[in-house]
Amino acid sequence: MPEALPHSADLVVIGGGTAGAATAGFAAAHGLRVVLLERRPLDRAGARWVNGVTRAALHEAGLPVPDGAATPPRFHLLTANHRVTVPRHDVVDLDMRGLVAQLQDRARVAGAALIGEVQVTGRDDRTVRTDRGAITARWIVDASGLAGARLLDTPPVAPEHLCAAAQGVYEVRDRAGAAAYFEGLGLPLGEICAHVGVAGGYSLINVRVHPGGDTVGVLTGTIPALGHPGGKAVRDDFVRAQPWIGPMVFGGGGAIPLRRPREELTDGTVVLVGDTGCQVFPAHGSGIGAGILAGKLLADTLAAGGTPFDYEVAWHRRWGGLFAAYDAVRRWNQSQTGAELDRVIGRGLVDLEFARAGLDQTLPHVAPRALARKLPGALRERGVVALGARTAAAMALGPKFPGRGRARRAWSAAMQRLLPV
Ligand SMILES: Cc1cc2nc3c(=O)[nH]c(=O)nc-3n(C[C@H](O)[C@H](O)[C@H](O)COP(=O)(O)OP(=O)(O)OC[C@H]3O[C@@H](n4cnc5c(N)ncnc54)[C@H](O)[C@@H]3O)c2cc1C
Repeated sequence: MPEALPHSADLVVIGGGTAGAATAGFAAAHGLRVVLLERRPLDRAGARWVNGVTRAALHEAGLPVPDGAATPPRFHLLTANHRVTVPRHDVVDLDMRGLVAQLQDRARVAGAALIGEVQVTGRDDRTVRTDRGAITARWIVDASGLAGARLLDTPPVAPEHLCAAAQGVYEVRDRAGAAAYFEGLGLPLGEICAHVGVAGGYSLINVRVHPGGDTVGVLTGTIPALGHPGGKAVRDDFVRAQPWIGPMVFGGGGAIPLRRPREELTDGTVVLVGDTGCQVFPAHGSGIGAGILAGKLLADTLAAGGTPFDYEVAWHRRWGGLFAAYDAVRRWNQSQTGAELDRVIGRGLVDLEFARAGLDQTLPHVAPRALARKLPGALRERGVVALGARTAAAMALGPKFPGRGRARRAWSAAMQRLLPV
């Protein structure tokens, strides 16, 4: 017999992936009565592959950094003729199957009820409709991802803002072959090699042999709306061309929303957290840390007596500027060809500090003298100076996110001029 749904809760969370499970756990730990509904079996919810997450996000969320993930290996950004090496950064690779299970366990221990194999089909005011009956809540969190329940009437993400990504962990069939591949690039085995511009400016094949040498992770991403093959085709072609890579152990893929975060994160009852709110760091499509921290902010806000609108404002004031600035970078990146990107890197315009900041989801610290050194190169590249101005404007505008009303309409119009969606 399937588990019966409770009649009511303070908070119903839709989706048992990283954003939903984290939100449920944070809210239950504050004493809220939480019910989480997931359409798949709970142990198949959310991302089922390896993702990079910053240690800063894990720390802020109060989550442990797993053993073995403590020291991220060096990261190399490679174009056809150039490279940028980032010796120290903050990104650790985590198996999402483990992170989802851990977040769900934390939610259960905190007192949330997690129910799998129940599909949310709609909502009437504060009542959530499912294929197994209805449940009424004070607040409804939609953490059901890009192709989820769509409980707020938000427009779909336009194809040019969607990255098709794929990740797989494969057996290493031939260690000597793996070593030769990295040697051919002038890199030690075990470091992270990210070939960028492989199918348009915003595209990558990221390869890393894991400690012990038995498995290798391959991550790809492209923008198919620009006429490029999707991430899965790029990944599968790459793997086929590498005889040292054996069968897949696990992996998967899907679409990632890259557009700047949705302005409207709530209607007062339904609240968006994670991919539903496009809370994804646009420069590389990273939504795990952002979704978890959005869930924490929401739970803390509601527990302190705030409203979903307070969460909306607080989220944008803290992260909106950073994400909008990197959306400007992403748009410029995907307007480039692989050859143009190669030249930009060759001119030193994307240097160690820029690459590290992008990886760590922070702003680069750039000394005025370093900027002055870049200026002659920047003036010779299409759109680079305009990009600098656009990122500065986005950084300035994001934190000024107003509540609702006239000021909001003016803010929206200004943001729309800067980064149309
Ligand atoms: C190949 C790939 C690589 C990536 N790499 C990275 C990376 O390195 N770092 C990073 O930070 N991010 C990465 N991302 C992005 C990241 O995976 C997503 O941003 C993140 O998984 C979004 O989490 P979420 O909880 O919002 O949504 P999801 O993980 O999509 O979870 C949503 C859940 O809601 C459930 N659901 C949907 N509809 C309903 C419904 N009607 N009723 C009930 N349940 C429903 C779904 O079954 C699912 O379990 C990558 C994405 C892909 C595809």
